[in-house]
Amino acid sequence: MPVPRTHSALQLLRQAIGGHRGWPQFWRSPEPKPAYDVVIIGGGGHGLATAYYLASKHGIRNVALLEKGWIGGGNTGRNTTIVRSNYFYPQSTDLYDHSLRLYEGLSHELNINLMLSQMGILTLANSRHDVEMLQRWSNAIQVQGIACEWLEPEQVQAEVPALDVFGMRYPVKGAFMQRRGGTARHDAVAWGYARGASQLGVDIIQNCEVSGFEISDNRVRAVHTNRGTIRTDKVGIAVAGHSTVLATLAGFKLPLSSMTLQAYVSEPVKPALDRVINSPMVHAYISQSDRGEMVMGAGADAYFSYGQRGNLPPLEDGVRSILEMFPRFSRLKMMRQWGGVVDISPDTSPIIGKTPVTGMYINCGWGTGGFKAIPAGGDLLAATIAHDKPHPLAEPFCLDRFRTGRLVDEGAAAGVSH
Ligand SMILES: Cc1cc2nc3c(=O)[nH]c(=O)nc-3n(C[C@H](O)[C@H](O)[C@H](O)COP(=O)(O)OP(=O)(O)OC[C@H]3O[C@@H](n4cnc5c(N)ncnc54)[C@H](O)[C@@H]3O)c2cc1C
Repeated sequence: MPVPRTHSALQLLRQAIGGHRGWPQFWRSPEPKPAYDVVIIGGGGHGLATAYYLASKHGIRNVALLEKGWIGGGNTGRNTTIVRSNYFYPQSTDLYDHSLRLYEGLSHELNINLMLSQMGILTLANSRHDVEMLQRWSNAIQVQGIACEWLEPEQVQAEVPALDVFGMRYPVKGAFMQRRGGTARHDAVAWGYARGASQLGVDIIQNCEVSGFEISDNRVRAVHTNRGTIRTDKVGIAVAGHSTVLATLAGFKLPLSSMTLQAYVSEPVKPALDRVINSPMVHAYISQSDRGEMVMGAGADAYFSYGQRGNLPPLEDGVRSILEMFPRFSRLKMMRQWGGVVDISPDTSPIIGKTPVTGMYINCGWGTGGFKAIPAGGDLLAATIAHDKPHPLAEPFCLDRFRTGRLVDEGAAAGVSH
């Protein structure tokens, strides 16, 4: 079912004349009801998209979405907004390309400008060994139908004039590029899904922390929150770095590590970079936002933490790596840094599907790269909840793979590549 269209050129004109005082509220803020058909925990992109697709694709609208803070206040509002689908294994490319294709139609579907900018993403090879690995990766995904191309150093220089291709300590030996990759505005993704879900009847309840579950005969019966107990027999959990906390409350274990991932932006400058660049070897990535800031990051902190904040050593490390690639950015002033708690699985692939508790489903393990996967993560979890069986694209990503050993090891395509 399509969401009502509240934004149009005519509406913009009307609101401009009226001093922008007549815009409707983006989403309703109702009090929680005593019972729902489905309760989704976590108001990040994955939880919001799940609630939206439950209502829009499966007609399940008696749904509550519970968020302990504010919508998009977790990793969804803290990431560096990179989207792409150039993972290595077929299971992953199917999943991430499904997501990218959904993103390509999402501004229209949600009637909000997500500022999807498919500027292209380049993964740099800085050694002979990188060239071998990245060419293999690039060939593998082309076989899987994902368009990408190999660039020689001169072509890299033509694509990215600001990059020090030949002079730096780690000269660029080539790169593989996915032109459909790029960035999207992360808060608009959260707000768009929230508004769409709310318009279709989902209750979005902020400042509502889940503190426990009522489970009997191995079936979930209710969710305990700081705003009372809510009865339900279906619960979807999408809480990223806090997934193991919720799983412990429900009595099962997840193979996840929670770590802080940091990012930082420079002062805004005139357009100087119109591609996303990452180098697994030099170990950093960068893009320029629409506001002109250079958005940068690297790998997760080397220790476990629930700290949602940045500190100096990773900033110094990341900026040092960026300057190896872009010495001309050395005079830029850094403006902000921050951190989010990411949920890293042993094979750096997500977990989507059923849990050991009947009626309880999970979407987690996206680690450092789940922003690009929000549309697919929501779509697949919604389908799994609605039909009580895994969506075919989600089957390879079930929790059981850590028992059977059928891992999807995306270590090379995740991490600093985002
Ligand atoms: C610095 C940084 C850079 C990143 N860059 C990229 C990138 O460029 N591209 C990319 O694809 N991915 C990136 N990521 C990863 C991406 O942001 C995440 O994988 C994704 O946003 C996860 O979305 P989510 O909805 O699962 O989690 P979140 O957005 O974290 O939402 C989970 C929500 O659950 C809530 N919650 C937790 N516990 C409870 C509870 N008990 N009760 C109720 N609510 C609860 C939290 O408050 C939070 O709002 C980055 C992450 C970080 C931190």
